[in-house]
Amino acid sequence: MPSFARKKVLERDRGVCVQCGVEAQGRDNQIARELQKERRLRRGTLTRVVLRDHLKQHLLDILPRYGLSDPGEMGWQMDHIIAVEQGGGECGLENLQTLCTVCHRQKSKQQAAERAQRRKAVRSQGISLSGEMP
Ligand SMILES: [Zn+2]
Repeated sequence: MPSFARKKVLERDRGVCVQCGVEAQGRDNQIARELQKERRLRRGTLTRVVLRDHLKQHLLDILPRYGLSDPGEMGWQMDHIIAVEQGGGECGLENLQTLCTVCHRQKSKQQAAERAQRRKAVRSQGISLSGEMP
C-alpha cells in the first residue's frame, strides 16, 4: 500500500518538492546517468573494487553541482501534510505531498521540536495541577 501511494504521488507531483521546487526525481535520474557514463568510461581500465570506490568518489564530486553535499540528501519523500499522529494517516492522496529529502528532514526536525514543546506544556500543566492539591 505505501508503495502504491508513492507511485500515485510520483505520477501527480513528478518528484518535484512542494517546498523548494527542486525536481528531486529528475535530479536523481540525471545523477544516475552521469554515474552510468563514468562507469562505462572507466569499466575497462579499473578493477571492480577500484571502480566501485571511484564511482563513490565521483558521486561525491558531482553532488555539489546539484546543490547536495552527501548522497543521503538525494531522493524525495512522501510527506503527510497532516501528520499521522495528528490523524492524517487515514486521509487519502490529498494529504500526501512530495518533499525533497532535505526539506523533509527540516520538517521532521521542526515537528520533533513541536512535539517536545507539547510534552513540556503537558508536563508543566501536570505540575501546576498537582501543586493545587492540598
Ligand atoms: Zn525541497
